[in-house]
Amino acid sequence: MIDFHCHLDLYPNARRLVNQVAAKNRFTLVVTTSPRAWQATSRVFAGHSNIKVALGLHPEIVAQKEAERGLLMSCVSEAEFIGEVGLDGSVQHRHTRALQESILKAVLAECERCGGRILSVHSRNAAGPVLDCIEQYCRVSIPVLHWFSGTLEETRRAVAMGCWFSVGPAMLRGAKGRRILEELPKEKVLPETDGPFARNGSSPFMPWEAMTIVRDVAIAWNMTHASVNEQLDQNLMRLLNTLI
Ligand code: MN
Repeated sequence: MIDFHCHLDLYPNARRLVNQVAAKNRFTLVVTTSPRAWQATSRVFAGHSNIKVALGLHPEIVAQKEAERGLLMSCVSEAEFIGEVGLDGSVQHRHTRALQESILKAVLAECERCGGRILSVHSRNAAGPVLDCIEQYCRVSIPVLHWFSGTLEETRRAVAMGCWFSVGPAMLRGAKGRRILEELPKEKVLPETDGPFARNGSSPFMPWEAMTIVRDVAIAWNMTHASVNEQLDQNLMRLLNTLI
């Protein structure tokens, strides 16, 4: 099992859950919403080599967390993974777009300065501007577009730029997400849940449920479940070996 984007620190019973996740999942990327949360979560989740905690500043809360901007920049050099970062163009977050963009560009520039990082990137209602930033800054870094929901044209642009994608069961619930999946190169896709925000009815998706995408992926790519599983495992290994 792989979950390349979850907010494990935000589940109600996170401390207990982490042992279960470490046992069940081959690899879990825990994204954080602020650099202080990254520091605290890294301490709490230390000791599990298959759980990595990514340094983030979520675009939806840049205004509240602006004071942590300096901390974010100074932590990039010691962080193995970056996320959740990105832009959100939804109506309720549009007023902070200038700040979001300034922070994203600064993070991307710092990642390059540090030799490149793997990033989990948010792009809701802002696919075009996120791709512009990636195009402008990312040379060695590897952006993984989480729950991508752009147009087909934007999807093709992201693919042409060499972006990776993390895809979850919530994204594949709709026809649009499944259509996007058909456009994605098999070797650039990883499973995610985005739990506990992404929910399965009344309960959040659990980090070991990201692999429930296999059924839809097998249909979209006309592959067997076993070969999809193998492909996703290989993708993870290739990505993790890229920056070593
Ligand atoms: Mn998220």
